[in-house]
Amino acid sequence: MTKPKTDARRDKQVREAEELLFAGPQKLGVAKGLFLGRFVADWVMPYPAASPEEEKRVDHAVAEVRGFLDRHLDAAAIDRAADIPADVIQGLGRLGVLGMTAPAEVGGRGFSQLSYCRVMTELGARCASTSVFVNAHHSIGMRALLLFGTPEQKRRWLPPLVSGEQLAAFALTETEAGSDAANVQTEAKPSADGSHYILNGEKRYITNVAIARVLTVMARTPVPGKTETAITAFLVTPDMPGFVVLEPRMEKLGLRGTATARLAFRNMAVPKENILGPLGKGLKVALTVLDFGRTTFGACTTGAARTCIGLAVQHANQRRQFGRALGEFELVKKKIARMAAYAYAMQAMTAVTASLIDRGLEDYMLETAMLKVFTTEALWEIINDAFQIHGGAAYFTDRPLERMLRDARINQIAEGANEVLKSFISLVGMRAPGQQFQELQESLRHPWGEWRKVWMLGLDRVGAVVRAPEIPVAHLQLKPHAQQLGRLIRRFNLEVNRALLRHREEILERQYVQERLASAAMELFASACVLSRRDAELQNKRRANAALNGAAENAADLFLRGSSSRIDQALSELHNNCDGLVTRTADAVLAGGLEAW
Ligand SMILES: Cc1cc2nc3c(=O)[nH]c(=O)nc-3n(C[C@H](O)[C@H](O)[C@H](O)COP(=O)(O)OP(=O)(O)OC[C@H]3O[C@@H](n4cnc5c(N)ncnc54)[C@H](O)[C@@H]3O)c2cc1C
Repeated sequence: MTKPKTDARRDKQVREAEELLFAGPQKLGVAKGLFLGRFVADWVMPYPAASPEEEKRVDHAVAEVRGFLDRHLDAAAIDRAADIPADVIQGLGRLGVLGMTAPAEVGGRGFSQLSYCRVMTELGARCASTSVFVNAHHSIGMRALLLFGTPEQKRRWLPPLVSGEQLAAFALTETEAGSDAANVQTEAKPSADGSHYILNGEKRYITNVAIARVLTVMARTPVPGKTETAITAFLVTPDMPGFVVLEPRMEKLGLRGTATARLAFRNMAVPKENILGPLGKGLKVALTVLDFGRTTFGACTTGAARTCIGLAVQHANQRRQFGRALGEFELVKKKIARMAAYAYAMQAMTAVTASLIDRGLEDYMLETAMLKVFTTEALWEIINDAFQIHGGAAYFTDRPLERMLRDARINQIAEGANEVLKSFISLVGMRAPGQQFQELQESLRHPWGEWRKVWMLGLDRVGAVVRAPEIPVAHLQLKPHAQQLGRLIRRFNLEVNRALLRHREEILERQYVQERLASAAMELFASACVLSRRDAELQNKRRANAALNGAAENAADLFLRGSSSRIDQALSELHNNCDGLVTRTADAVLAGGLEAW
């Protein structure tokens, strides 16, 4: 690609990103704080807990859901039939699962995101198809209505969705708009009298379309007074003339119970009253909605991780080879321990991230992206470990692991491919320190006029580098881990500053660097969540039984040590790597260089 074209494309990406990022003053979140060398403890500590009344309600809800799932949910049958039975969907509706976080005024149960995550962990532990169906309906399908709907829209559309009488879907993806969500091509042209919009275009890979009665659809609308177009969200119903389902249930590898569709809009008229959120702000609507989806991703993957551990432990204790139970071999122990360490961190990270939403942090894009990437990659490793422990037995369809493996593969791709999210985490995280450098540079041009600003900016940048932030854990046992985390945050900040100074605006193209910084940031966030959880458990020893304490203590300890090494490795590789060789190898292969082999 020629340079002007690259610059133009980059400018466009930067403009789109700027539009999406929250403007104006806002509280500093935990993830953005890490990039500035700070630890904003209030968002992570103390470990989140529901109020006693809500805890009671959630315990009851979880018990009810468990009982229902025990009696009615057969994940293997759902996978074989490639369908979720209507009585399961209706039952989940009756239990309030399909409207759990919606407010009571529209018939919802008004649960916090933290409590909802507990319920979704139960579902995720049993059947990925069913949890993805619920997510597509509740976490993303009706989320735009809950967040951006006018009072009138909420009154009209939400009650049947919340009760589960009607189901919802979220339609963003198109052939040309996958990871590049801003590249939606579906058009919505205003009618001559301005009363409605005419939609034309196609969507693919959309969950729930075959069963949904309400879809949030992203389409491109003209920007008044300009030649440009922007994305707008519309409420669409399948009875609108011109709504065509091209393929209701695309055949697929996993999540076979979900109905994933291709659909088209052919001159479909949508009343202007169905615009959801501000005209032209659909991309922001879509990405805000996906933020919610990513928290429940964390919950569902945590549930699936627990199931894997249960299966692996059972097999490792029962199966004997070489005259011993598999669990007696060190290389099996290593896997079991690694699984437990990751699962402990996944649960902690899910709870903390969900609580950020509940506690009113305005901008939690980075934390939800970190949660999604971290938990989906951890689950993939965990399933792989459980699979390996089972040996050949895992490969057969009479056991759940082959289904779990097939179901889990999409997690690293859907709702933001992990590569795209890593890049996003890094670039958005570096935005604030980058701006400070820019301001510092600007101010240094006129130091006499702005000496105070220069002084303050300099102090801020240098201060973070010199001081390791304090991680306020209460329990003595955790102090060494907390000090180590503080040191790692300081080192991370130093590397962020170095990367910014070294690459300047070229950092936008340096994905090897972005990935390492994102990986380190995710590990720092995960470690902070683990410390918070463990601190709370130690404070509350009476509630935890001895076995849990032993397992939890070791799992937390193991995670923190492993995480520290992974951070060290990611940051060291910023300086000691073979990135140039990687690029040369890939370029040669991409250019067809393997043909002559
Ligand atoms: C079962 C299933 C259910 C789905 N449900 C829905 C739904 O309900 N609603 C909806 O709107 N969508 C849905 N999707 C779509 C899903 O969100 C997309 O598949 C996802 O966003 C990725 O887009 P893509 O498949 O076009 O991959 P592409 O965009 O073609 O990307 C392919 C790969 O390229 C790499 N890549 C792409 N861009 C970059 C980059 N900038 N840097 C580095 N690497 C990059 C990544 O490794 C990525 O995995 C679903 C998909 C599936 C498979």
